[in-house]
Amino acid sequence: MTCNPVRTFALVAHDRMKPTLADWVAEHEAPLRPHVFFCTGTTGQVLKERCPALNITRLASGPLGGDQQIGAMIVEGRIDAIVFFIDPLSPMPHDVDIKALLRLAVVYDVPIALSRKTADLFVAAGILG
Ligand code: PGA
Repeated sequence: MTCNPVRTFALVAHDRMKPTLADWVAEHEAPLRPHVFFCTGTTGQVLKERCPALNITRLASGPLGGDQQIGAMIVEGRIDAIVFFIDPLSPMPHDVDIKALLRLAVVYDVPIALSRKTADLFVAAGILG
């Protein structure tokens, strides 16, 4: 069995999607465990409580600039993939942050999963985990 090198992933969930991301991370905890994670503040808190064994660094909360911090890490080549569960049923307050992060992910060609099934495919493909 080959072992993937340690990689760095960003995990962010908006509003009602935080439990969904926590469930997804818990489901895939074993393959994710060797890797390093950067999260926006509240997302990171939820994930740390659910999966304390994971190496999670909390950045600022999203509305206070956490998404922008992840964006800067993308620019610096420090993020290998992103799971970004936006809440499609919430109103617009995250809109500018969503657009900014998506744009940088495309500019720097960093894989980004916006839904649970896409994130599952990332694990199956070895992009995550
Ligand atoms: P939060 O930020 O994890 O601190 O809630 C998420 C976001 O708004 O991007």
